[in-house]
Amino acid sequence: MTGISKQTVAFTRDAANVFFHILTRCNLRCRHCYINPEAHGTETLPLRTIERWLRVLAKKSRKANVVFLGGEPTLHPDLPDAVRLARRLGFSSITVDTNGYLFHDFLGRVSPEEVDVVSFSLDGPTAETNDPIRGAGSYRQCLKGIRQAVDRGFSTSLIYTVSRENLTGLEGMPSLVESLGVQRFFIQVIGIRGKPAGGGEKDLQVSRRQWLETVPRVAEDIAGRGIVVNYPKVYLDPGEPFACAGLVADNYFVFPNGRVYRCPLCEDHPLHSLQMVNDRMVPVTGITEVDLFPLQIPEGCVMNRLIQPDNIVYRPDGGCEHRIACCLLKEQLG
Ligand code: SF4
Ligand code: SF4
Repeated sequence: MTGISKQTVAFTRDAANVFFHILTRCNLRCRHCYINPEAHGTETLPLRTIERWLRVLAKKSRKANVVFLGGEPTLHPDLPDAVRLARRLGFSSITVDTNGYLFHDFLGRVSPEEVDVVSFSLDGPTAETNDPIRGAGSYRQCLKGIRQAVDRGFSTSLIYTVSRENLTGLEGMPSLVESLGVQRFFIQVIGIRGKPAGGGEKDLQVSRRQWLETVPRVAEDIAGRGIVVNYPKVYLDPGEPFACAGLVADNYFVFPNGRVYRCPLCEDHPLHSLQMVNDRMVPVTGITEVDLFPLQIPEGCVMNRLIQPDNIVYRPDGGCEHRIACCLLKEQLG
């Protein structure tokens, strides 16, 4: 692996990361969508509320990063103003995650100086792979959006969610990513939450063997082309320490109904430990996610054991082959 560095990105409390879902509405109906309106609300947050919540979240750290998400965040007509507010409030980096439809002329209403990264979601190197997962026409539209963003000088990244439907398609991504001119490539693993948890789509998960045979190799190929690649660790090596980001990092997953989670795997359940109330972020009483974080089990992540145990392989003696890492633990190549 000449010239490519690989590292596990350590958890830190030196920066707060805010994942701000400003609405849950979306024009697409992706098969693996993790948005769950019953748990996350259906509101489109008014700009005034976005501002008040951003003020609260900006105070969590001297270095705070914000990612605007949805649903599809560009469906929010005030997203450009929200971006500028975040900049004025001193957020260190501002990212917008989009499916590429870029509603309300989003790219025409913000500048590359105002948005640090526009991040696109694409789940295949061709429409034949992507569109059955994300919807007819979504491949063409996403590529169009990426090209517009690159042409206008925005920093861009691409997110690819791996499932059984598109694992082989990952092999076709290196040349596409290179030709598009994106700076970063994020590989995600499909989670059993949102639609996959409720809609009988559990067989979309890939096995450990499938993951390890494909993902690190393709990541290396892409990194070799000068593009930074991140992908989840998922399986800890023997002896590798386990850490729960809920205890050792500073992440906030914020939803339009005011729920704030510290762990994304908890998002389908009323386990949020914080809640926006009258524009303050207050602790939730009773059993919440924070009661799970300190639990030590041989399988590693407690929430993984509870909601998606199919990725745990047990030996005949009852021990597990590999501990499952925190879903937020990433490998980075670049
Ligand atoms: S684009 Fe995102 S929010 Fe919309 S359906 Fe797909 S995964 Fe869900
Ligand atoms: S995914 Fe698991 S390890 Fe990570 S924050 Fe949630 S409970 Fe903790």
